[in-house]
Amino acid sequence: MNKLQILVVEDDAPVRNLITTTLKAHDYRFTAAVNGNSAIMEAASRNPDIILLDLGLPDMDGVEVIGRIRNWSNVPIIVISARSEDSDKIDALDAGADDYLTKPFSVDELLARLRVTQRRLALMQGSSQQQAVFVNGRLRIDYASGCVYLQEEELHLTPIEYKLLCLLAQNTGKVLTHKFITQSVWGSSWDNDVGSLRVFMATLRKKLEKAPDSPQYIQTHIGIGYRMLKLE
Ligand code: CA
Repeated sequence: MNKLQILVVEDDAPVRNLITTTLKAHDYRFTAAVNGNSAIMEAASRNPDIILLDLGLPDMDGVEVIGRIRNWSNVPIIVISARSEDSDKIDALDAGADDYLTKPFSVDELLARLRVTQRRLALMQGSSQQQAVFVNGRLRIDYASGCVYLQEEELHLTPIEYKLLCLLAQNTGKVLTHKFITQSVWGSSWDNDVGSLRVFMATLRKKLEKAPDSPQYIQTHIGIGYRMLKLE
């Protein structure tokens, strides 16, 4: 049922083969590019549903590829990188990537990321215009009234918790960096105060999650940021 078109950008042939073999086995369609320039051309001409992008490419940095593609497209981009430094992932996410996978990765991990992105894609397509009500599992946000409900029970959020929740909800499926979140919620006057963000996130989770220690809605990416997951 997949039949999504995936663009695989990877110059390392064994890794590229692993990815394309996996995609083929799971009924995804794909094309491959081996450098940044051909990735940009393929992205423009084939209009893929999802891009899997290696960061270390022979002709240009993957972060630059993301920036160029973002000039005209919102296609979900999952970065696949051997770079394990958080700062590299953060740069890619801030440039507009949706998610990241660190090499070496397992086939199951790759498929899981594709499923998350596929749900995000469905969500993006379903909400071409700003919806008045956001629903995800038991969570419901009524933007007009500013009220949040879990099942039928109203959650009493502080203004900052509400802003945080709306930001995560509007970007469901995408990993948001600490910097992106603090700038969006507090504006430029706020420096990247991750400690405070963590405190606000903890109080929000206490209200939102059944078990704050194993959250369903808001996933932590240690050293990087947070993501709201779309519940089945
Ligand atoms: Ca590479």
